[in-house]
Amino acid sequence: MPGRNFLFVPGPTNVPDRVLNAMHRAMEDHRSPVFPKLPLSIFPDLKKVFRTTEGQPFVFAATGTGMWEAALVNTCSPGDKVLATRYGQFSHLFIDCAQRLGLQVDIIDLPWGEGASPEKIEEKLRADTKHEYKGVLVVHNETATGVTSNIAAVRKAIDNANHPALLYVDGVSSVGSLEFRMDEWGVDLAITGSQKGFMLPAGLGLIGVSQKALARRESAKLPRVFFDFGDQIKANATGYFPYTPALTLLYGLRESLDMLLEEGLDNVYARHHRLAEGVRAAIKAWGLSLCAKEPKWNSDTVSAIMTPAGVDGAQVIATAFKKYNLALGAGLGQMAGKLFRIGHLGDLNELMLLGAIAGAEMSMRDVGMTQIVPGSGVGAASEYWRGGSTAQPAPAAKSAEKRGEPAVAAR
Ligand SMILES: *Cc1c(COP(=O)(O)O)cnc(C)c1O
Repeated sequence: MPGRNFLFVPGPTNVPDRVLNAMHRAMEDHRSPVFPKLPLSIFPDLKKVFRTTEGQPFVFAATGTGMWEAALVNTCSPGDKVLATRYGQFSHLFIDCAQRLGLQVDIIDLPWGEGASPEKIEEKLRADTKHEYKGVLVVHNETATGVTSNIAAVRKAIDNANHPALLYVDGVSSVGSLEFRMDEWGVDLAITGSQKGFMLPAGLGLIGVSQKALARRESAKLPRVFFDFGDQIKANATGYFPYTPALTLLYGLRESLDMLLEEGLDNVYARHHRLAEGVRAAIKAWGLSLCAKEPKWNSDTVSAIMTPAGVDGAQVIATAFKKYNLALGAGLGQMAGKLFRIGHLGDLNELMLLGAIAGAEMSMRDVGMTQIVPGSGVGAASEYWRGGSTAQPAPAAKSAEKRGEPAVAAR
């Protein structure tokens, strides 16, 4: 099909040209005397994105799923008890990972569309007077339902209960796009991957680990080889890796960190919020609802849009793909067929999103949702973005202004 494919799944996300160009490189010797310069420049900037000064970041050739495993095998022993909360496909799979590793997982099940309940977590932890729970597992942004949980409140629940459990947070679809504060929220294992907020291809597992979690390695008896933090700690100290690193992706990561830090993390979070608000205005204009049951849970990186009874969300997605070259996210697990998702994270702006909104609108009408007024979503989103603009001038424009040069028009 001519023209661009419109990639609006919540991951992998669009890879910016800057990152693509940075990755276009010949291979090199990862044991050379000059190689360490690259990793040694990446680690401190990765800490900035995790918002940690205390924690240590690790970079694996893996994905987010690998980082669930890395987090658990480095800190737990066979049969250990952990507390987890489940409200979507990714929290379900995180739990499945823990169970398959031989942990006993106590599950707080919530309706899909809700987020983590700090009250229920506190209650469970208070009842655990022997401190048998070694950890609390939470998914920050449940990508399957478009629900963001309040991690600061989960931290407070753990502290209220005076419980020593580690806090494991899946931030795969939040770190680098939603506000994420590892130190402030007392996150012990901050889990993410390269193909969402970091705007890279899949292939890097990224994890921030607190000193408290690193100390658990001594007593943690789960077998670990590839994911052993100990091997990374030794090699990373001098800028090397214990095995062949994903060189290309490291160059891409260097560039994506530059892009995130040039825009400024607070501006990145604000942009995601503004883009998400426009998408939500479109959904409202369509007369449809989000899977997220309350506005406090609305995700700024992905909107899961419920299709009316009798309309298969998968059909909307199939039509969008075949007819309009638009990739929308599918309903997963319990939500299969009941919704479709628009990912709005990473390298995105208003007009790109208007393409996705228009394509979704056309596809919905195509599958028989004639109640969708043509142009209604596009109109609502564009008016929101036109009027509600709080966009910061682009960083390049700002520095041009400083130098007294005419600033190029801000987005
Ligand atoms: C995408 C995603 C994952 C899975 O990550 P992979 O990189 O596909 O292994 C885990 N958790 C959440 C919240 C995600 O969005």
